[in-house]
Amino acid sequence: MSEFTKTLCPYCGVGCGLEVSPPAQFNKAINRDSQGNPIWRVRGDKAHPSSQGMVCVKGATIAESLDKNRLHYPMMRDSLDQEFRRISWDEAFDLITKRIQTVRFTQGPEAICMYGSGQFQTEDYYIAQKLLKGCLGSNNFDANSRLCMSSAVAGYIQSFGSDGPPCCYEDLELTDCAFLIGTNTAECHPIVFNRLEKYHKKNRKVKMIVVDPRRTPTAEAADLHLAIRPGTDIDLLNGIAHLLMRWNYIDTGFIDDCTSNFSAYAEVIRHYPPEVVARQCGISIEDLETAARYWGQSQRVLSLWSMGVNQSSEGTAKVRTIINLHLMTGQIGKPGAGPFSLTGQPNAMGGREAGGLAHLLPGYRLVKNDQHRAEVEDFWGLKRGQISPNPGLTAWDMITGLENGAVGLLWIAATNPAVSMPDLERTKKALLRSPFTIYQDAYYPTETAAYAHLLLPAAQWGEKTGVMTNSERRVTLCPAFRQPPREAKADWEIFAEVGRRLGFVKEFAFANSGEVYAEFVQLTRNRPCDMTGISHEQLKIQGPTQWPHPQESRGAGEAGGEIKTKRLYTDLRFHTSDGRARFGAYYSRGLAEPPDPDYPLVLTTGRLYGHWHTQTRTGRVEKIRSMHPQPFIEIHPRDAAVLKITDNQVVEVRSRRGKAFFPAKITKAIVPGTVFVPMHWGALWANNAEANALTHSESCPDSLQPELKACAVQVLPISQQ
Ligand code: SF4
Repeated sequence: MSEFTKTLCPYCGVGCGLEVSPPAQFNKAINRDSQGNPIWRVRGDKAHPSSQGMVCVKGATIAESLDKNRLHYPMMRDSLDQEFRRISWDEAFDLITKRIQTVRFTQGPEAICMYGSGQFQTEDYYIAQKLLKGCLGSNNFDANSRLCMSSAVAGYIQSFGSDGPPCCYEDLELTDCAFLIGTNTAECHPIVFNRLEKYHKKNRKVKMIVVDPRRTPTAEAADLHLAIRPGTDIDLLNGIAHLLMRWNYIDTGFIDDCTSNFSAYAEVIRHYPPEVVARQCGISIEDLETAARYWGQSQRVLSLWSMGVNQSSEGTAKVRTIINLHLMTGQIGKPGAGPFSLTGQPNAMGGREAGGLAHLLPGYRLVKNDQHRAEVEDFWGLKRGQISPNPGLTAWDMITGLENGAVGLLWIAATNPAVSMPDLERTKKALLRSPFTIYQDAYYPTETAAYAHLLLPAAQWGEKTGVMTNSERRVTLCPAFRQPPREAKADWEIFAEVGRRLGFVKEFAFANSGEVYAEFVQLTRNRPCDMTGISHEQLKIQGPTQWPHPQESRGAGEAGGEIKTKRLYTDLRFHTSDGRARFGAYYSRGLAEPPDPDYPLVLTTGRLYGHWHTQTRTGRVEKIRSMHPQPFIEIHPRDAAVLKITDNQVVEVRSRRGKAFFPAKITKAIVPGTVFVPMHWGALWANNAEANALTHSESCPDSLQPELKACAVQVLPISQQ
């Protein structure tokens, strides 16, 4: 029997296959981390269809983060100025159930909130939904995916009648034109980019367009880089549409047979002639025309995007405007074509399937939909009307709920909002007001642990068995290959035990996570994400598979599920009531907080190749820390000259909400008028260098995703280093 366990990388939504083996079996001179713990061996899984053996620095070094600074025991304190003291799990469960009952009967179930994470496995997500939305009657479950890709969810639902990226990674190697907007794929989704770049280099006729205010490594590889001003994405997209229409590159047959609302859209794009669009976006008319020509003349166009599009106060409109280009040119439902959102986290897709946002229910259902609620209520054995028809509090709503006393209990799991939320000073003040915060995580300390009353040690990746789904809808079993340290428990087990202690004994009578998954997939029957043909056992035997994978396809195909599942909408029928995809007609509104004389620069935030989110894991890996030792701010030489800033000089960056300090990196890689700061550094890793001290919480009205990507700032030189 092989000493290697096949699993999935727990970092980004690319979802690369990994093989892991114990330290002792692989290397007599065992490698140890800086705290002396033996390091497990990790390598890429050549058989995993998504990554084909490739792995980036994060995946390759994941094992080094497994043992350092782990939270081993439940700990509690009565107030935030006290030290934590160790307690037993029994005491912890007792405390949680008493607190939940008190809040439930004094403030009502809607005062109970849980803020979860795309780091959850699907089983964790599902049990949390059943506990909160089903048994407790509170739809206040939201996840950090709200900050990452909820605009993509809203865009897909509004355009296609259902969520779900319609493409697959194979499309990266079949396209004629890759249109990347708001995504630094080379650094943030490296293995997706490797596949695309290899193919692009081999096929010189294939075009790659990158839209980004920064000249990122992704933009470096492009045939055409459109360095637009932040907030002008819709101008650009409508401008490309205008030219496609003018040059008659549109697919009238597809528009007539498969779509609705085209005339409203055509009226909008009429107002986006190239002269206006080029001026607005800060690019040349020639480059705009080249982009439209590349798109219009290609047989197969694939667009890719991530947080640069989603994290916007008009995020849903941007997503739909990308989709519009595909609809007007018939670029969907065929190999090498389609609108493909890349998810940030390893199982953000599983969260969508399990209903892990405040407006969702399991099986791609909506809280607001009467029939959807009734279906879930029946399945869970609840009384009709037990699930509230109102979407719950989103991530930012929970912060404002703490401010106004609407939140009586906040349960945070596997995420670090004291770094990742917008408007951090306000966020931290709100967290200080929480009557009772449970923080469930694998690591201690973290920035958020400082705001908790009760700490619960969670088993993490490799210490519990569960399922994760990557950006191409590929589901992979991630088996436990080691014991959780000391008293750490799987997230789903913690939620289930709380459920049982609240009296829902039969509802949470699961012997293992395989049983949880088996129950969950029944709720996907006949839904767009039908996974009734998938089980832990099937995944173990047949390997990763894409959904939809209904029961009748069980056992079919090499990987058990390659029947019509690579791409959605190949029959050109959509999930809307009339089966047609809907055009969205949007004028650009621009940034929620545009620059002005007081705050004359636009700050955009982003990610670096090695680090992951708030460094909870990657901050413990020496190799990654030495790659990215400190935060910085990128400034164009023209702005630096005006501000009299020299390279590496420390600058103070101020917005209307806060300030932070960074050494300046003067570079032409950023457009004039815009500055860039990576978002990874919280209070634990650097002093006063938190990007989100500056950002604001203005959100997209449809997706309620905050505009973390842009705010107005001023930059002031401080000292010479
Ligand atoms: Fe992990 Fe993403 Fe890197 Fe793949 S690309 S190894 S999933 S971090």
